[in-house]
Amino acid sequence: THHFARRVNDLSESAIFRIGARAKALADEGHDIVRLDAGEPDFNTPQWIIDAAKQALDDGFTRYTEIGGLPQLKEAIQHKLESQNQLHYRLEQIMHTCGAKQGLFNACMSLLGPGDEIVIPTPRWGTYPAIADIAAAKTVNATTRYEDGFVLTPETLDHALSSRTRVLILNSPNNPTGQVYSREELAALGNVLLEYPDVIVLSDDIYEHLRFTNQPYANILNVCPSLKNRTVVINGVSKAYAMTGWRVGFAAGPEDIINEMQKLQGQTNSHTAAVSQVAATAALNGGLDEVTTMSQVFAERARQVAEGLKPVERIKCLPAQGSFYCLPDFSPIIESLPDVDDDRELADWLLDKLGIAMVPGSAFNAPGHMRLSFAASDKTLQKGLDRLQKTFA
Ligand code: PLP
Repeated sequence: THHFARRVNDLSESAIFRIGARAKALADEGHDIVRLDAGEPDFNTPQWIIDAAKQALDDGFTRYTEIGGLPQLKEAIQHKLESQNQLHYRLEQIMHTCGAKQGLFNACMSLLGPGDEIVIPTPRWGTYPAIADIAAAKTVNATTRYEDGFVLTPETLDHALSSRTRVLILNSPNNPTGQVYSREELAALGNVLLEYPDVIVLSDDIYEHLRFTNQPYANILNVCPSLKNRTVVINGVSKAYAMTGWRVGFAAGPEDIINEMQKLQGQTNSHTAAVSQVAATAALNGGLDEVTTMSQVFAERARQVAEGLKPVERIKCLPAQGSFYCLPDFSPIIESLPDVDDDRELADWLLDKLGIAMVPGSAFNAPGHMRLSFAASDKTLQKGLDRLQKTFA
């Protein structure tokens, strides 16, 4: 009964959250629920990172820090981008954020206003259009197809861009498709972007380290260096180091954009917790051993899912190449079930009848699909796959 501002009141509640809450409630009642809806690694933060954080508290990292981040964190980010991504940034071009999510938020709020357009390849993470809505910008979906490996084609991009486009989002490895853009595919998009010099690219690299192919990681800057003065790289420690709860991300890009983003951050949350910044510094400086190990486990599970879905011929699914998701097409199943009309209803049906929690594809602008997360133990995963096989094969 209070009066609310439209910018928030119009936001839809996250479907990911809704299915998660239902799954938890059923599990708490004693039902055997297979959770394939998780958006975070099922691993714990490596112990040496936790130890660094404990030490940081004793060392007095309990106060405000610089808005852009502790100097040692910014240096660790700089070094990471240099050594792992061959991207060179001055410290003035780098800031930390409260998770990659806030990096995206700061960038979009700094760049987008009413009437501006943001091009988002779909299927996509639901937070992108939500942030665009808060900024009162117009979302233009650029649909990718199963047949193209859920990769944006230059033709589709060209069609989506206009003189009103201010921002393009790229996300590889992708949530929810699990697909990874090749250098050639990125180069083709870069060529199109040369025709649109006012468009800023936000490269969401958060799943960078979770990849299951032998190709080295590439984002668009690695193949189109000329885009450097209009690309903001968004990344963080959440997914690679199993540090989702620490809330540390970072952004690197043109100094004027980073300055605007810092201005906004300085007047909102200021910075993420000092202790989290020290932990992220340790993570970034600490090598990739655990990251590689976790990535190998995810790779094994990606194979397990691909194998497990094979006998269910009606369900088409591109095997995941990265992240910890894939996006099976359940539309033939939806058609065959008399009491199920769409993927949202299927999500409830799967939960009630089979005890499997998956997020409906509509949440990612992929109706008829379900997002299957393999951030779950091999045993849990196998149980879910067995139930799907028994019911649908
Ligand atoms: N980008 C994508 C595509 C994601 O899926 C997520 C988390 O689900 C994020 C960014 C946000 O990551 P963080 O936890 O660092 O805010």
